[in-house]
Amino acid sequence: MVGLMRNEFRTAFVREPQNLRHCPALVLNADYRPLSYYPLSLWPWQDAIKAAWLDRVDIIAEYEEVVHSPSTEIRIPSVVVLKDYVKPQKRVAFTRFNLFLRDEFSCQYCGARGDLTFDHVVPRARGGVTSWENVVAACSKCNLKKGSQMLSRSGMSLIKPPRQPASEQLRNQGRKFPPNHLHESWMDFLYWDAELEA
Ligand SMILES: [Zn+2]
Repeated sequence: MVGLMRNEFRTAFVREPQNLRHCPALVLNADYRPLSYYPLSLWPWQDAIKAAWLDRVDIIAEYEEVVHSPSTEIRIPSVVVLKDYVKPQKRVAFTRFNLFLRDEFSCQYCGARGDLTFDHVVPRARGGVTSWENVVAACSKCNLKKGSQMLSRSGMSLIKPPRQPASEQLRNQGRKFPPNHLHESWMDFLYWDAELEA
């Protein structure tokens, strides 16, 4: 379904905290959809167990692994669902990851994937601001070639004009770039709506 190459690109940009590498829990909103797709809402297992103990989440699925407390043995949750619905954010956060996601992890000048940087279309030296409309993903080659020239002077052109993405648009892009490791118990919750829309 998804090329390995794309996964590799994505992982290069997402810095995962150390404690998310081992048995993270997928966090679902009370409507059983992931709390967020980009990045995917994951908690370290310690947080998932704590939230379950505080009765803030229900455990939907578990790993084989267990943790021990002095008195009991608990299986590590792999999917938890919040008891209280959290209103999803409408506004898309202007982050490095979301910008790469909007540009589908490809250089907006030549289409190359990998070795990506950020390019200010109107260079900062010429008053260009850091915004959705003025920053694009660019490979280092194109970035270097363009330098601090204005676009019209560079002989280069953009594949598509940079715009602030709608959250729905990013969400659709996000499905093409799932995280590197997906536990089997997460699949039902990540992709069922994608199939319905197809
Ligand atoms: Zn390029």
